[in-house]
Amino acid sequence: MKKQLAIILAAAGILCGCQQKKTCEKQAFQYNVDKFYDLEILRYDVPEFDSLTLQQKSLLYCLSEAALWGRDILFDQNGRYNLRIRRACEELYLNYPYDKSASEFAAFERYLKRVWFSNGIHHHYSEDKFLPEFDQEWFTLACDAAGVEYDDDILPVMFDPTVMPKRTTAQDGVDLVACSAGNYYGEGVTQAEAEAWYAAHKDNSPEPLWIGLNSQLVKNENGEIEERVYKVGGLYGEALAHVVYWLREALKYAENDQQREVIEKMIAFNETGDLKLFNEYCIAWVKDLDSRVDFVNGFTETYSDPLGITGTWESMVNFKDLAATHRTQLISDNAQWFEDHSTTDPKYKKEEVKGVTAKVITAAILAGDCYPATPIGINLPNANWIRKEYGSKSVTIDNLMHAYNEAAKGNGFNEEFMIDDEIRAIYEQYGALCGDLHTDLHECVGHGSGKLMPGVSKDALKEHASTIEEARADLFGLYYLADPKLVELGLLPNMEAYKAGFYQQMMNGLMTQLVRIEPGKDIEEAHMRNRQLIANWCYAHVTPENPEMEIIERDGKHYLQINNYEGVRRLYGELLAEIQRITSEGDYAAAKEMVETYAVKVNQDLHKEILERYQKLNLAPYKGFVNPVYCVERNEAGEITDVKLDFTEGYIEQHLRYSRDYSPLPSVN
Ligand code: ZN
Repeated sequence: MKKQLAIILAAAGILCGCQQKKTCEKQAFQYNVDKFYDLEILRYDVPEFDSLTLQQKSLLYCLSEAALWGRDILFDQNGRYNLRIRRACEELYLNYPYDKSASEFAAFERYLKRVWFSNGIHHHYSEDKFLPEFDQEWFTLACDAAGVEYDDDILPVMFDPTVMPKRTTAQDGVDLVACSAGNYYGEGVTQAEAEAWYAAHKDNSPEPLWIGLNSQLVKNENGEIEERVYKVGGLYGEALAHVVYWLREALKYAENDQQREVIEKMIAFNETGDLKLFNEYCIAWVKDLDSRVDFVNGFTETYSDPLGITGTWESMVNFKDLAATHRTQLISDNAQWFEDHSTTDPKYKKEEVKGVTAKVITAAILAGDCYPATPIGINLPNANWIRKEYGSKSVTIDNLMHAYNEAAKGNGFNEEFMIDDEIRAIYEQYGALCGDLHTDLHECVGHGSGKLMPGVSKDALKEHASTIEEARADLFGLYYLADPKLVELGLLPNMEAYKAGFYQQMMNGLMTQLVRIEPGKDIEEAHMRNRQLIANWCYAHVTPENPEMEIIERDGKHYLQINNYEGVRRLYGELLAEIQRITSEGDYAAAKEMVETYAVKVNQDLHKEILERYQKLNLAPYKGFVNPVYCVERNEAGEITDVKLDFTEGYIEQHLRYSRDYSPLPSVN
């Protein structure tokens, strides 16, 4: 009885063993917020926020506003009907006149929650269109009853499975532009036309402009291809004007001149769309290493454009986690050692690895393509020549990792899928540490390693470039996870800890990541392809003489057993050498062969089994977040006197508030 009461009180955060108030608050923090379909919503804490200066907090606040004002842009980039659909659904949600406990309304609410999560009507990860579980008739009658006006064109887009089924198509032999629902190209533009336009406008100078990064290609009345530039006064101008306003406010609180230059360049770029200014912004941003506060805000990653040119809008505002930054600093200080000692051919190595900086950050707001689902690391800028000349910045985001780990504790996953207590014990002890270190190695030294042979274009691997690049960075990280160097540097405690990382990678790549794939589907997403590529390739290269690992069947369930971890490391090293060769030589045929053989196809029987086992655990494979709410106090002169964070807002409340307060774009852009 006594024990039970203690457990209840502890779960409520009322009772705990510690003396410090801060730790008590941590225990009460609610990491789990909501769960629906294959998605789980978590909340992240922002530790150390209270220790920042008022200037830094004010800066974070202004940058968070600049982040939130871009939300509509991503919806529209993801599909030209998305804003129309989101708005009709939100209006219906708020004005539904009937019983909201009816099952159709519950299905409708789940659909809307999904639309918010995906920033549109296609699954954020598989990129397949998801269909409502209520029918068109229910929707139209409900809209009529609620007085919601909507464009009839959205109906087939929402309900007909054959209309816009895929957000980004990477399928061989089809028109990638015409078959993708994303809005990077106007209606009627073909892949050939877009490619011809890019080829004609490509900048081949030594400091090239990233032509097409910030624009949509459309067809004009004469059937010619035209560029609509994302800028104030141009496409998405209504949203970018607000972004610019808040960047200007942020200037008032800049920590130093370098950071001021970063913000000024981003303002000027948004105002003009001039890509030369974007390059200048990237260079200024790479050079800003001293500021505590940092941010990304703009058209950044190009994975969602079927041709990999145009940037998807995103923002992440953050500040340096000083203690954890020490960890990645050590890795980055040794970048040259890692480069020199990897398994790649010396001719593909960089003679001088330069400017690999590393830090660990605390995310303070997520927006655009970083919200609700978010990356756990950032490595920018993407322009190779800037990386080469000026270096790049790599960050890992510790408070998000921490939230994932906390939210997943005791969910039964490892008990179900790991083969025995021995590996489970190693994983429990070192899994989180290996995860952090692997991410650090991937971002800080992996992506920055190696070089292209003279004359090899960065686009040479075309649609397989992302998968190969991610595999390269992952393998670099995996190979070094098992290196005595990490123990020597004090990053790992012993030569056993890395086994947690190896087992996790192989198990995930061979089996458990399949929980994210629907039955019968191929793997499409670049990071998932990369993970399966590595695991399948290594497994396929196990020989009877060197049985490094095997898959064992026990009571109808399959488990990975690793017999020789050093042997697995040897395989990682061999594959790293080959992937680097493919990259350095721009060997498209080999990349295609590698991806098609190992990365795309799924073993159907195994997939079915994994899904069944996973389903019994009742977990969601994808996670996303709600943001904290910034509460600002001002004096009579309007000056900020305090900024506080509130962590109580729910998922639905947050999205409805964002749509109410931060939605400047017209429905049709
Ligand atoms: Zn990466």
